[in-house]
Amino acid sequence: MKQSILDKLQILADAAKYDVSCASSGLDKRNTGNIGNSSAAGICHTWSYDGRCISLLKILMTNRCIYDCAYCISRASNDISRASFEPEEIAELTIEFYRRNYIEGLFLSSAIEVNPNHTMEKIIKTLHILRVDYQFTGYIHIKAIPGADPQLVKKAGELTDRMSVNIELPTKQSLKLLAPQKSINSLFSPMQQIKEGIKQYRYDSRHIKKVKSFVPAGQSTQMIIGATPDSDLSILHMTEKLYQRFKLKRVYFSAYVPVNKGTHLPALSTAPPLLREHRLYQADWLLRFYGFNADELLNFNQPNFDLDFDPKMMWALKNIEQFPMEINKVPYKELLRIPGIGVRSAQRIMKQRQVSMICYEDLKKMRIPLKRTRFFVTCNGRYYGEKSMEPNVIKKYLKPDPSYEQLTLYTIPQRATT
Ligand code: SF4
Repeated sequence: MKQSILDKLQILADAAKYDVSCASSGLDKRNTGNIGNSSAAGICHTWSYDGRCISLLKILMTNRCIYDCAYCISRASNDISRASFEPEEIAELTIEFYRRNYIEGLFLSSAIEVNPNHTMEKIIKTLHILRVDYQFTGYIHIKAIPGADPQLVKKAGELTDRMSVNIELPTKQSLKLLAPQKSINSLFSPMQQIKEGIKQYRYDSRHIKKVKSFVPAGQSTQMIIGATPDSDLSILHMTEKLYQRFKLKRVYFSAYVPVNKGTHLPALSTAPPLLREHRLYQADWLLRFYGFNADELLNFNQPNFDLDFDPKMMWALKNIEQFPMEINKVPYKELLRIPGIGVRSAQRIMKQRQVSMICYEDLKKMRIPLKRTRFFVTCNGRYYGEKSMEPNVIKKYLKPDPSYEQLTLYTIPQRATT
């Protein structure tokens, strides 16, 4: 039976929700007869460089896959509804949604149908119709298909704003176990090509008047958390490597949602490790903006983050001999290491220090969370924490309320699995 566009949209928007590399909100709110519906239409959100939240049509080109990655709902061996869009259909949907003001851009991912080149060619054709035929200049984020010809990656890069290659698992061994048709090299090689293309584009655009753009919004990737026994340390080592080696804009983490059975997979009833995902995002922030490196935050004796305390707090407690720091003297780089002090607060403190000494009341006015920070600072030589600077004593004061429970974005889907 021929599938309608709506059938395809339902199947392929639903299949795309496992990809978080465009920062989807994961919202699923059904229409109850009033205006507005965000369910199954595949609309997600991302943020532009100026902080604006923009809506994207988030879909797969196809969920027919020749690969059989153990963790994936679209794997070849799963008995699920399958569908494929034609490039013309995606282009028309994007434009129609755009004209109706539902979306401002497109996030297009795909399973691997027939072979990597065939899938990449279909993605390029979609981009071409949008950019050339419809003259669509809105935001587009696509997935580069591992194993596709570099010429195709180049062509796609000239038509899209952001590209991502999903590494999914942090080690060669894990890839071999759960995604044996993929290899680290087949993932690193398009990342390297995209990095060099972006570098060349930035150089050319400074020296040549009219130059073809190439992935101007940079590249990103995602890693699944909790599908394998990999520690937070190995995930963070890989994250660090990806930022340093390929200059990625973002590494996204996706708490593993058990959708398949498998000897190497967690049980279907396992809850997605959302708090662990959150700790990794906090650590990622420390790598990118606070000057930390992975080995300072974790080590082989303690390879996973504490779920009760954030990574910066744990680092401070492990290095308690470096505290308290005098808020009026400590250099900017050190300020960033004090629990509770973020980049903005550190900048405010530096600015304030140019005109006057900072007292405890000033910190309150700057909205610094003194409940945490007071254990690690002095203001004009005075300490406001408890008498002991023993990490276990500080931990007692800061231990989270046991009734606290993290909210989930969506429940584990009940679906047909192999
Ligand atoms: S290649 Fe992608 S879509 Fe196909 S099974 Fe692997 S993760 Fe899923």
